[in-house]
Amino acid sequence: MTAPRRRVLELLLAAGEPVKAYDLIARYGLDGQAAKPPTVYRALEFLERRGVVHRIASISAYVACTAVAGDAPAHAAAFLICDCCGATEEVAVAGGDAFADAASAAGYAIERTTIEGHGRCPACRVAA
Ligand SMILES: [Zn+2]
Ligand SMILES: [Zn+2]
Repeated sequence: MTAPRRRVLELLLAAGEPVKAYDLIARYGLDGQAAKPPTVYRALEFLERRGVVHRIASISAYVACTAVAGDAPAHAAAFLICDCCGATEEVAVAGGDAFADAASAAGYAIERTTIEGHGRCPACRVAA
């Protein structure tokens, strides 16, 4: 893995929560220097393709995969997103393979599938 890819993954693992691309760019340099945006975007693209990082479109943020160890290019990622406190959790869902099968039956080559469920986390449900 190249240095930018390793650094971006390291930042996401250290954060332990979704991080916006511009925060990754700002936090990139060990000396406090921001990265060049294309460096970070290219690294994110690569990591996403490898299945070790997911993009959560509805909150425009990236997060390290917590559901699968190692490379898992094909896995469908499912996220529970709390609209109250912003907590997110990746969960394993059945049906990802069935979806991929339906896609290939329709002649599509799916590169990634991300399911995003919005609602309230257990803590926020108790507080409500
Ligand atoms: Zn994942
Ligand atoms: Zn919450």
